[in-house]
Amino acid sequence: MLLEVRIRFNRFVVIFTTISCILLVLSFSTYAQTGIIRTELQPGITIVCRPSYQIFLECSISHGKSINQTLSSVLSDPTEVQKYKNLRAVAIPLNRVRTSLYLQIFMLIFNQDNITPEGWKHTVPQGYRLDDNEINLWIIALSGDTTKKVDIMKHPKNSGKKLPLSGGNQIFFPSSIFSPELKEQLTKKARTAEETEQNLLEPMDAIDEDWGDIKTSTNGTVLSKELQYGKDTLGEYATYKLKAGETIYSVIVRFTDYTDHADILKVCEVVKKRNKISNERTVKPGTMIKIPLDMLSDIYLPSGKEERRIADEVKKEVEQIKRTKKTTGTTNTLKGVVVIIDPGHGGRDHGAPRYKEKILEDEINYDIACRLKEYLEQKTQARVYVTLKDESQNYTPSMNKTFTHDTDEYILVTPPHNPQDSVSSAHLRWLLANSIIRKEEKAKIPREKMIFISIHCDATYKSSIRGLMVYIPGANYYRGIEKLPKFGDDVNYSIYKEWQENQPKTYTINERINSEARSRLFAQILIKTAQKNHITVHSNGSAIRNIIRRTKYNAYVPAVLRNTDIPTKVLVECANLADPSDLQNVADPKWRQKMAETIAEALSTYFDN
Ligand SMILES: [Zn+2]
Repeated sequence: MLLEVRIRFNRFVVIFTTISCILLVLSFSTYAQTGIIRTELQPGITIVCRPSYQIFLECSISHGKSINQTLSSVLSDPTEVQKYKNLRAVAIPLNRVRTSLYLQIFMLIFNQDNITPEGWKHTVPQGYRLDDNEINLWIIALSGDTTKKVDIMKHPKNSGKKLPLSGGNQIFFPSSIFSPELKEQLTKKARTAEETEQNLLEPMDAIDEDWGDIKTSTNGTVLSKELQYGKDTLGEYATYKLKAGETIYSVIVRFTDYTDHADILKVCEVVKKRNKISNERTVKPGTMIKIPLDMLSDIYLPSGKEERRIADEVKKEVEQIKRTKKTTGTTNTLKGVVVIIDPGHGGRDHGAPRYKEKILEDEINYDIACRLKEYLEQKTQARVYVTLKDESQNYTPSMNKTFTHDTDEYILVTPPHNPQDSVSSAHLRWLLANSIIRKEEKAKIPREKMIFISIHCDATYKSSIRGLMVYIPGANYYRGIEKLPKFGDDVNYSIYKEWQENQPKTYTINERINSEARSRLFAQILIKTAQKNHITVHSNGSAIRNIIRRTKYNAYVPAVLRNTDIPTKVLVECANLADPSDLQNVADPKWRQKMAETIAEALSTYFDN
């Protein structure tokens, strides 16, 4: 609720954090399985909350700031900084953190709570226990006062509740205990809703209409007539005329890069307020909807914006690559091509789950990967690597229609790593990929002849939005290969050979444009091949996205796409597990085979023809 005023839409800041929880978006598992909540406070500082309300901050070197600079901004006793000289990463328990940060920390961790001017209704997370001690911690966080004593349980809204509370129980903290800061945030939120004095300007520009990959946009209408740009007291916006059958939700999915259902709902609220819409059901086709400009995907921005300029450069580069591509004359052999297949999740991290239907994302990803590997090895001369191995299944495709959660998948780093969550495992995947790439380069394979394909399924959009989507590395949203701390994300990275051999580097903007263009070209080919093979493709706006946008973070490129050191790299979301038809498809071994062969066919078109 409150988050909508806290949304940060800074398109100019490139995310480049060493410890990040960015891949959380691709997984529902971390929270559900372990009860550990991780979220970023600021670059270099991750908030970690373990059951039961054990909160600490993981601080690491980031953005060229020394650990001491980072620490002195969070420690309640800044003289303690001296203790941590020369360390790369430190975990600070909450009781040594400045009280003034508590509110922000609690808002980030418990962002699903219901906060209104009357009070804060907190839902105890699963696996947690809330007793007197925890209540005192909450009071300090919300009041900013370490000495405040109130009997929260006497409040009428908590009547009949007995301590300790457990997962799923709710507790109400009345606004009478709120700090002035929290009260002010809540009134600001109310004020924003009123401030809708609008001042229409002439449209600034029209958008180019022949983007190769947005032909799938709803009913193929001409984009330049669909979006107009303007500015009012609340800032720049684009207007869009709502068509029959469209909702604000579908408009957000189409023109922005929000993919998470809860996020899209939050953004819908922002857009509704911006347009003074109180009840969406009363909105008629033909209504002009204003969308804040900084929410739009790069390709929908007016020309003149830096992000749009880079998007246009990428587009030119795609055409350039197409022109210079030579057919090898050896169709469908993939000779001299290296394919690194990365099945998403595995180990304890099962990815997006459909427990009732017995479908687990990691098993689907792995099976498509096995089928792709088998096909490429039987029918082509490609050199195939898979980042993950299931010890019991090996690489045999599965004929199963339902799955149980087995945990014996290992990332093939040295020594092998059994994934516990999607964050650390993503880092180990690109470390492994880069070591394969270095080896193949020594064997005289140029990096342009290598590809990294991460295979996933999402369950983020609501059902009815379905089909294949491809993520590519947005040139404007990352820098290069990151330096990972020795310890981070609950993993000792330094024991892995691939970590020891990691070579951090910064790419030039031209290198990143070239990489986005190559990845985009492959993605376009994959989408076309899928359409030809009757695999459903995401049809609400572009099926190719160069960033993931979340309300909690700045826009980002997934870690495996930022850090894998070759130009062509994609993350494929084969289907939306929240959609019943997609769910039926992934359960079918024949469909999984078709998906794998579609990827193989796209590889041949991209590299051979
Ligand atoms: Zn996934």
